Amino acid sequence: MQVRMGLGYRGRAAGACAAIVAGAMAVAPAQAGAAVAHVVQPGETLWSISAANNLTTRTVAVFNGLSEDSHVVEGQTINVPTVEEGAAALASAPAPASAPAATPAAGARVVQPGESLWSVATANGVTVEALAAANGMASHAHLIAGQSITVPAAGSGGVHQTGTEGMGHIPSPYGELHLDPGAAESWNAMRSDSLANHGVDLYPGGPASAYRTAEQQQELYDLYLSGQGPPANPPGTSSHETGSAVDVAEPIMRDVIDQIGGAYGWSGTIPSEWWHVAYGG
Ligand SMILES: [Zn+2]
Repeated sequence: MQVRMGLGYRGRAAGACAAIVAGAMAVAPAQAGAAVAHVVQPGETLWSISAANNLTTRTVAVFNGLSEDSHVVEGQTINVPTVEEGAAALASAPAPASAPAATPAAGARVVQPGESLWSVATANGVTVEALAAANGMASHAHLIAGQSITVPAAGSGGVHQTGTEGMGHIPSPYGELHLDPGAAESWNAMRSDSLANHGVDLYPGGPASAYRTAEQQQELYDLYLSGQGPPANPPGTSSHETGSAVDVAEPIMRDVIDQIGGAYGWSGTIPSEWWHVAYGG
């Protein structure tokens, strides 16, 4: 470096130096085999950090000496283990308490920091729609710590949105969307894989791009027939109506699914539609 600068190649030397540093930095984090310290960012939860790293919440919780329902705070450091380290931690951890298996009764509870309609609904075995409806809220409403909400009894009927009871959920920019439970579980695993290993989030292109009711399918079909919308199947014939298809938002998402989807049962099934992927096809 000193020699080059002495010869008057200062600008070039600096450029080469920057390239070397950038290269070294790019290599370092790619090393596998050791836990990585992660600083919690705004909006992150133990669940989202775990999911982004393709690990279960319990694995990351145990590795950090936390309980699974711990709330992490912005700026906190969480150690993200490798799969092997996580497995070792789980093997030496005490069995999880069986108390949460009891079916909770309907009741009021106070919202804790970091909780969302989704996390409360999931923890209590009810759908987001049921929880929102029981409290007169929209399903995308935000909860505020200290707020009192009513949790309906698990499996209670009457407050569920028609047609989505018992369905699985997948995250999207438009709130939680629905799929068949098996398709949703597999989608969420594939999404974690994509986030962790390809840096690409996977989500539907719109609120009607995952599960669709027959009414929604009819609307899309009518738009297609009138020349105002993309191709859509007649009601009763679309895999979206069984909650086993997603229309992804971006071509790059389809590229990733073409690479990794096979292991999760997801693939493109309509040659003329890059956006349409189906489960079990
Ligand atoms: Zn589709």
